[in-house]
Amino acid sequence: MPRCVICQQLYDGGRELTCSDECHEELVRRLVADSGEFKKVIRLSTGVAYKVPTMDIIEKRLRAEELDQYPLWEEPKTDNNIFRQAKQLRQEKPVLEMNEEELEIVKIATMPILLLRQFSEIPIDDGLEELAKMVDEAQKEVK
Ligand SMILES: [Zn+2]
Repeated sequence: MPRCVICQQLYDGGRELTCSDECHEELVRRLVADSGEFKKVIRLSTGVAYKVPTMDIIEKRLRAEELDQYPLWEEPKTDNNIFRQAKQLRQEKPVLEMNEEELEIVKIATMPILLLRQFSEIPIDDGLEELAKMVDEAQKEVK
């Protein structure tokens, strides 16, 4: 007999992983809390990613063809402006909590501020913002 993943009791019949509707609902609640309301599901044959409610993944046995009914998964846009990244990092956490990669970004981005005379009188974060805007402008001109 299988054991219910929620209440740990052995059960006969019941749902796929749980003994009862109550335990099933609890399982769904926990999974949604754990992994968010939506999950990214990639259709292997096409490589297209869909935004599927976690509920549907648990409740239905989704077949590849059924993925078409869901909206496409959109990656959150990442700002690749290093000065803005650095400014954001500095706002998010103290330098001591940054990992190596984050530290590197901050180091590279703040270097011009430490070196250039025009930035010597303003706070680092303001300098980062100014540099970020300069990069934005430069990128606009390229397009
Ligand atoms: Zn149970």
